[in-house]
This record gives sequence, structure tokens and C-alpha cells, in this order.
Amino acid sequence: MSASPLIIAIDGPAASGKSTVAKRVAAALGIVFVNSGAMYRAFTWWVLENGIDPADTAAVLDLLARTEFTCGEENGVGTIAVGGVPMTRSELASTGVNGAVSPISAIPQVRERLVAEQRRYATDHGVAMEGRDIGSVVFPDTPHKFYIDASPEVREARRRAEGIDDSIAKRDRIDSSRKTSPLVIPDDAVVVDSSEMGVDEVVETVLAAILGRMG
Ligand code: C5P
Repeated sequence: MSASPLIIAIDGPAASGKSTVAKRVAAALGIVFVNSGAMYRAFTWWVLENGIDPADTAAVLDLLARTEFTCGEENGVGTIAVGGVPMTRSELASTGVNGAVSPISAIPQVRERLVAEQRRYATDHGVAMEGRDIGSVVFPDTPHKFYIDASPEVREARRRAEGIDDSIAKRDRIDSSRKTSPLVIPDDAVVVDSSEMGVDEVVETVLAAILGRMG
């Protein structure tokens, strides 16, 4: 019997640097980096592409029931296709998607479906998965949980530097206050405040904690 795949859960608010960290940690450990936010963004793009009003929950759920998600892997990075359309970064980070993704992600049935896809993916891939509820809901049993934080000022500045129009304060408010799996710090997570740290230092901190636990 083979050992179960390694699962690293990395959560945190928008623009905390968790994607960069998760990608580097995955590469160092030879597992797949999965950006679960990309899955919520992909479905949000699909809702808009189909001309559906994100506030029309019944129509969103009707589309969800007819939608197929395909999760793959390319060079150690998880890929997502929705309705057979492979998603690229420009679609996922559009202003329309940035504005609609949090309300759509707050719909319990949307979460249920994507959480099932995330768990299925990790049955045959080791993953460093980042998001909002990875340690608290998706993989509560993994011992490798991290919460990457940064001050609101630092996070806003990071997004501005990327030239991305993103209302992160508003997304954080919705993500933290929704009823179903809000953004929380799991009790057993290692919290890393990256406000004053370089990426290398954050990655080293996370890797040291993982390797320490693995003995
Ligand atoms: O990580 P990113 O900022 O790209 O995620 C976009 C949005 O997707 C978040 O603001 C949140 O509404 C939703 N999301 C979520 N649960 C996750 C990952 C992302 O609700 N695990």
C-alpha cells in the first residue's frame, strides 16, 4: 500500500503572498501547487461568460449543475478548465471576476462542489494548496497548516504594484463574514506575518516547519 499523498494547506487573506509561497513550497517538495482561488475564479468567469447575473443564485446553481470542471497539472502547477475551456491568468484576474468572485464563493453549493473537486485531486497528487478554507474545511486532518498574513496596507500595495484593479478589502470582508467556511485561522496552523519578511524567509519558515514535523 502506498502512503497517502502529502497535503500542505496554506490559507490567508487576499494578496498576503500565499500563492508565491505555496508555489515555491510545492516546487521544493516535488508536489503540485494548487491555487483553489483559481477554481472559484474560473466558475465566476463562466457565470459572467454565460451572461448570468452573479446575484441570481438560482441561475448560478442551475449553471453549476451543468458545468464540468477539469483539474490537471502542468509543470507542477494545477490547471483548471471550466466547461471545457482552459483558464488563463488574464481571464481569472479580470476586473469583472474580481468584483463577483466573493459573492459567488459565498454560495454553499458552489463551495461544496469545488471542495469535492479539491479533495478528489489530492487523492492522487501531493499538493500545496492555497486558499481560504484549506486547513479549516478542505483538509482538516493534515498536520501541515499555515496561515500567511500581511497588513492591509502591504497587501493593497502589492496588488497596486501588480497593476491589478482588485477591491481586496471588500473581498476580505465578504470572505471573512460569510456563513459557510469563512476565512479563519485554524487552531493548529502556523501563522506567518509576511508584512516585513521577504519571500525567501517566508518559504524557509514554512519548509522548516513541514520538515520538522516530518521528522
Ligand atoms: O486566492 P484568491 O484571492 O485568488 O481567491 C479569489 C476569491 O475566491 C476569494 O476572494 C474568495 O472569495 C474565493 N476563495 C474561497 N475559498 C478558497 C479560495 C478562494 O472562497 N479556498
